[in-house]
Amino acid sequence: MEKFLETLKAGFVSHAYIFLGPDERVEKQAKLLARTVNCENVELSPCGFCDNCRKILNGIHPDVMEISAEGASIKIDQVRNLIQSFAEKPLEASRKVYIIHEAHKMTPEAQNALLKTLEEPASQSTAVLLTDNLKLLLSTVISRCQVLDFSSASRMNPLCVETRQKIAGMVLEMAKNPEIDPGSMARQIAEFGEEPEQVLDFLSSLYRDILAVKTKSRVSAINADLSDVIYRCATHITEKSAVKALGSVFYQARAVKSRGNQNLIWYNLLIELQEVV
Ligand SMILES: [Zn+2]
Repeated sequence: MEKFLETLKAGFVSHAYIFLGPDERVEKQAKLLARTVNCENVELSPCGFCDNCRKILNGIHPDVMEISAEGASIKIDQVRNLIQSFAEKPLEASRKVYIIHEAHKMTPEAQNALLKTLEEPASQSTAVLLTDNLKLLLSTVISRCQVLDFSSASRMNPLCVETRQKIAGMVLEMAKNPEIDPGSMARQIAEFGEEPEQVLDFLSSLYRDILAVKTKSRVSAINADLSDVIYRCATHITEKSAVKALGSVFYQARAVKSRGNQNLIWYNLLIELQEVV
């Protein structure tokens, strides 16, 4: 998370995020994002005492909007209202932030309505979709967002180039050959000796990139250096499978804390991936 805040402070703010995790936790992170990008004290951001910070903390900032389900779902009209104000300039903040609670409760129509905005975003707006259930979001929506997992204390440290290439190669092998032995692959991953959280972070970014290719999204790849392997994976994996694979990776990321045996983590994950891709 610290690294993510550093990225925001440096001005690299994406136009759309999915924050994955329990609503209360991801809501806090979304508000933290809103304060970090709008804080008036650059050195201290988010300072917590400037006008922007205070209004966001009190839930009364005119440029930070939140929507949540009315009844069982988030309806298309709610999303349309949101989209309308997307294009308008912020009143007080430098960037508008839209927080969609339980984004998986958007009806498919509502998600489709949001899609165009995610594809052609206003430069001064950022949408943050909060969810703990990625599988209920359209793959086209997921592929246009940067997905950050707050469900476990996942770290964002990058793996070395060689390990990334090897893991990407394994994902490709698995996509090409459904008969492959998950046991031997699990041992190979364990032998890298990397932190499971880092490997899972990387795997989720990889499947997100594959999904972006599948849905012809114009958002930039997270693993641009691996675009060759990503494109080859995309020819073997369906859009639906990529979403399911992403779900499996996140599921294992949550389970990772409670399990001691690394081999078992990788074995379970690979078995699941084998079923979905
Ligand atoms: Zn501030």
